[in-house]
Amino acid sequence: MGITRLVYAPDSTYAIGIDLGGTKINAGIVDERGQVLSACSLPTLPGQGSIPDRIMEILGKLFQNEGGPDLFRIRGIGVASAGQINWEQGSVHFSTELIPGYTGTPLRRILEERFQMPVFVDNDVNVLTLTEKRLGAAQGLRHFLCLALGTGVGGGIMVDGQIVRGSWGGAGEIGHMSVDFDGLPCICGGVGCLEQYASGTGIGARMRKELEDMGQNAAGVDAREVMALWQAGDPAASKIMDETFRALGSALASLIHMFNPEMIVLGGGVAESGEAFIDRVREETMRRAMPSFTGSLRIVSAYRGNYSGMIGAGLQLWEYPLRMPASGREGKAL
Ligand SMILES: [Zn+2]
Repeated sequence: MGITRLVYAPDSTYAIGIDLGGTKINAGIVDERGQVLSACSLPTLPGQGSIPDRIMEILGKLFQNEGGPDLFRIRGIGVASAGQINWEQGSVHFSTELIPGYTGTPLRRILEERFQMPVFVDNDVNVLTLTEKRLGAAQGLRHFLCLALGTGVGGGIMVDGQIVRGSWGGAGEIGHMSVDFDGLPCICGGVGCLEQYASGTGIGARMRKELEDMGQNAAGVDAREVMALWQAGDPAASKIMDETFRALGSALASLIHMFNPEMIVLGGGVAESGEAFIDRVREETMRRAMPSFTGSLRIVSAYRGNYSGMIGAGLQLWEYPLRMPASGREGKAL
């Protein structure tokens, strides 16, 4: 490990951001404007060693790459994590077997004890919501929603300038809002969840089923291919995507009536397929929502750029009041 010592400095213009997913961890040094001073990645290797050990490893690598001073002054460490996060405790409330043994990990306490500086841990989509608030289309807005349409569907809800968290931090699971009470069964135990219709996983699975029903070979067909076929006018892909747009329109109309947002931001691999996708979502949403709610509402694409999760993770150090762990303030060797 490197010899760099991280020192807590509340006036520092830098923080560490860590984006921890099921397959990859990104860590970097970021500033308040979302600029990345340096960054590195490692595979998560779930099930092989603990996640906190893996975080120590990537920070060691980050500061080895840095090759800078022996003392590095930062405001603190922000983590964006897969799974359900207990916001107050900064611990993992629940994680699927995607990362075995991760449930219950007191990530914030472990990192605070190790580094003696403020640490914030939140789920990955709440952190993307901060990126939108500070760098993206939602700058200056106090009421907006973020949806990340990727492997799953995640959500972040901003009301009165604050992320809505619920009792322990689980609020905003928009992917598990039902859009059809007689619909497809979901991994969560629910029925007709948005995720079954609007995630990359759900789009791929429904297309494979459609092709098999037509007697065609569906092996290896994924969402990326469905989107390409849809844009080329393929009838089977159009049928699947029409269902996706109706499901998204239904979900967004409900959310609009519930939260009365100024903006809805759509991100993730599925939404990045282009303006035609956003146009269709807008159309299906406007058909289902009361005009009084949609007059000034904007539905837009998410902030584009590398490391948006890692940057949002670091931005937590400017979003929330800094709070020191109980004891000590000395920097620690990695
Ligand atoms: Zn579900």
